[in-house]
Amino acid sequence: MIQIKSFTFNDFQENTYIISRNNQCIIIDPGNYYDNENIEIKNFIDSKNFIVNCILLTHCHIDHILGVKYLQDIFNVDVFIPAGEEEMYKSSENIAVLYGLNSYNHFEGVKLLGSENKLSFGDINFDVLNVPGHSQDHRAFFLKDEKACLSGDVLFKNSIGRTDLPGGDYDTLIKSIKNTLFLVGDDVTIYPGHGPLTLVKDEIEQNPFLN
Ligand SMILES: [Zn+2]
Repeated sequence: MIQIKSFTFNDFQENTYIISRNNQCIIIDPGNYYDNENIEIKNFIDSKNFIVNCILLTHCHIDHILGVKYLQDIFNVDVFIPAGEEEMYKSSENIAVLYGLNSYNHFEGVKLLGSENKLSFGDINFDVLNVPGHSQDHRAFFLKDEKACLSGDVLFKNSIGRTDLPGGDYDTLIKSIKNTLFLVGDDVTIYPGHGPLTLVKDEIEQNPFLN
């Protein structure tokens, strides 16, 4: 059975997720930045005796990548980023300085997610959705059997991702939500990059940005 553990990290209140099945896990959007956050996520993984399979990023905004280097150093795993956000990822050190995140450490050796629409890591299988608009090549990771979708900063409870950052586009974001993300099914739970969980059905019916 798959389990999803969430943490909320850094000054942006970013949600970091650990997806696990049996003794394996995948870390999605590690935002751990402060020492206590680094210790919290490491202790959780250690306490479960998880083998970390990889680190996966929905997109490369700074608040979603702050913990990549710390965790990669410890667990020595592959880090996958959307191919279309390689340039943004490479500029992360400069962006961190702009935000005053002077303790940011950059991991260079990432691997690129191309056009594959399915990913398998051990016993954990994702459908990969292309949902640009908040950022240029934003992905969502859908656990079909669990009716769970880790969708980064595309859709929030009663809100949507911002589109004023580089690579953002409002019309593209709305299309991604309505024509791609919402097709996962009414009864799917959205695990967003910020804020509480929500159901697709509730956002279709109530989200003020989509009605
Ligand atoms: Zn973002």
